[in-house]
Amino acid sequence: MCDRTSYIVIFLMALIVIFAFLNGDNSDNNYNDENTFFQVSNLSALAAGEYLGNFTVNELKNHGDTGIGTFNYLDGEMIEKNGSVYQVTSDGKVKIVNAAQKIPFAMVTEFDPENRSIINNSSYEDVKTKLNSSLNGEKTFYAIVITGNFSYIELRSVPPQKEPFPPLSEVIKNQSVFEHQNITGTLIGFWCPSEYSSINQPGYHFHFISDNGTIGGHVLDFNLDSGLVELDKMEIVQNVPK
Ligand SMILES: [Zn+2]
Repeated sequence: MCDRTSYIVIFLMALIVIFAFLNGDNSDNNYNDENTFFQVSNLSALAAGEYLGNFTVNELKNHGDTGIGTFNYLDGEMIEKNGSVYQVTSDGKVKIVNAAQKIPFAMVTEFDPENRSIINNSSYEDVKTKLNSSLNGEKTFYAIVITGNFSYIELRSVPPQKEPFPPLSEVIKNQSVFEHQNITGTLIGFWCPSEYSSINQPGYHFHFISDNGTIGGHVLDFNLDSGLVELDKMEIVQNVPK
């Protein structure tokens, strides 16, 4: 009787150990999924005028809820916030896109920040300096979300292109630039280290969308009154063809 009880106790303890192991293993997998930087195509292809891809908005959403990019024919700036994908066209208007719309270049992640801080009264250059000290020369991508009030922001978008496509440097000469004052919204972007210069441009790249969903674009400059800065370190880099 006593022996039988011992066997049952040992059996139950073994089950607990197995469940704990399985649970721990699952946690690790989730952690990795959440910390994957996912990029469609690469910046040199986009810069050379490769503005058509077969990757859809719907497929992109499967790889992350937060990100930036552009649309086929280079039709404006793309921003994904909380799983909703928006298009800022060259007239500065913001639209929610349909799932079948295609993209030639984008980067997304499942945003799960591990570092939060408040930044007050800072220019774009000030924010970069503060971020540089937080990132401390890390050799991996970071996703960055900054939510707050901007006393000033300068944004751009680009018009759709016709084939044969000109290089990006030519398109940007005809970009539309918009300036706004006293606006609340979200900057979404990434830090790319020089180790990944083969797929993206080293440095910071942000897009913006206002809280009321009417203003957005690729960020050229800003002054942040007060904002929450959230950082998510990318453990895995996944680069796929467009
Ligand atoms: Zn951009």
